[in-house]
Amino acid sequence: MITTYVQKLQNHINGEWVNSSSTETEPVPNPASGKLLANVPLSGKKDIDLAVQAAACAYPQWAETPVPNRSRLLYKYLQLLQEEKENLAQVITMENGKTIKDALGEVQRGIEVVELATSTPNLMMGEALPNIAEGIDGSIWRYPLGVVAGITPFNFPMMVPLWMFPLAIACGNTFVLKASERTPILAGKLVELFYESGFPKGVLNLVHGGKEAVNGLLEHPEIQAISFVGSEPVAKHIYQTGTAHGKRVQALAGAKNHAVVMPDCNLEKTVQGVIGAAFGSSGERCMACSVVAVVEEIADEFMEALVAETRKLKVGDGRSEENFVGPLIRDVHKSRVLQYIATGVAEGASLLVDGRDTETDEEGYYVGATIFDHVKPDMKIWQDEIFAPVLSVVRVNNLEDGINLTNQSRFANGAVIYTGSGKNARIFREKIDAGMIGVNVNVPAPMAFFSFAGNKASFFGDLGTNGKDGVQFYTRKKVVTERWF
Ligand code: NAD
Repeated sequence: MITTYVQKLQNHINGEWVNSSSTETEPVPNPASGKLLANVPLSGKKDIDLAVQAAACAYPQWAETPVPNRSRLLYKYLQLLQEEKENLAQVITMENGKTIKDALGEVQRGIEVVELATSTPNLMMGEALPNIAEGIDGSIWRYPLGVVAGITPFNFPMMVPLWMFPLAIACGNTFVLKASERTPILAGKLVELFYESGFPKGVLNLVHGGKEAVNGLLEHPEIQAISFVGSEPVAKHIYQTGTAHGKRVQALAGAKNHAVVMPDCNLEKTVQGVIGAAFGSSGERCMACSVVAVVEEIADEFMEALVAETRKLKVGDGRSEENFVGPLIRDVHKSRVLQYIATGVAEGASLLVDGRDTETDEEGYYVGATIFDHVKPDMKIWQDEIFAPVLSVVRVNNLEDGINLTNQSRFANGAVIYTGSGKNARIFREKIDAGMIGVNVNVPAPMAFFSFAGNKASFFGDLGTNGKDGVQFYTRKKVVTERWF
């Protein structure tokens, strides 16, 4: 008899791999094949407390470590991440399912946040103004908060954790990461490379788990701030519970991103752009384009090209470079998506490309690119985040209609206009309600030196991740007014 051994993952606390105290586990399958990769422990409050204690012990010395020295360790980390790019991308494809090209893109976007974090001596600098009154000077000084926690989603196993801990740690905080239980393997690699860079023990800790581990973080008195990225209902819970426990919280939530297509756009580039934004990473991106509002004048021509190009997309294992659409994360998510497609049909939208027809040789959780035309805003497929390669197209009379319709969404993460007119682009920028806006840019995800966050139900909090917002979130200020006799 052949016995197969599947690894039970461990937590990483105080610089060591340790077993979770919980015997409960969840399987981690490869979404492309359904094959079991590992079992992830569902850690509880005891494990969280151990990790928080380790972070709390490491904090005083880490906070006292001069800022340039902290930065130097991040340079080393940056170098190791760059050297490991290919391997990291392969792990992402294996546990998340996105194509290797998308995974390499994610690795790059994650690395860019570490680049940002290396410039903390500049970013953390305070302000000073001499002579604010006769013989009196004023200044602002920035300090770390203490122990900070991060809770991350499955869809960017590398980029989203890197939105959090490098900057928090560069600012002098110590960190507890609760990665997604659906993509826990890459998180372990990030922690291993972190310690290979020479960071002191306890500065970064990783606890695997789900709901119970999260609630342990939200309630822990030692934790000063929580960064969360995930779905809207959970983001709301994190924000409400975390703030009720006196913590600073930033909770980036779900989305339904819209593109407005104008008659004066570059049609070919617009079609390619919408396809990349709607079906790349199987639509499992918080910045995926899930609704297109196309102006009637160009709608038929646009739809014809969009449908023709979409039909060419190959679906299958993300390791093969010819595949554009990889699997969805889990079988239950696939069932939910199939249900949404059936709902769209029942609601009366025209199903022009049906991803349910997709045939692959593999056992994974595949749904092909799907396009609905003549969608209306009272339909569920227009309103809900489906988080899959399912695109809804609405037809509008003009730019104003497109903007008004988009602004009816509960969500307001990203929005894009495709146009050849500066005037249209300017009107769009001024009138659209979205945190991140693109003009002829397919996925307007800001670079790491700008902040990243949406509006409305896409974000709970005040300060976004990354950029100056990130530094402000992870630091507190003292304002000094001084006179010397
Ligand atoms: P999710 O909300 O299911 O999980 C996110 C994290 O919350 C995980 O670590 C999970 O363990 C934890 N969690 C889940 N249910 C919980 C509960 N009931 N109580 C406490 N903790 C819980 O999200 P996901 O499915 O992993 O990720 C996809 C979602 O994340 C999408 O909605 C997507 O739009 C969103 N997202 C948003 C952004 C952004 O920048 N706004 C970026 C990436 C992903």
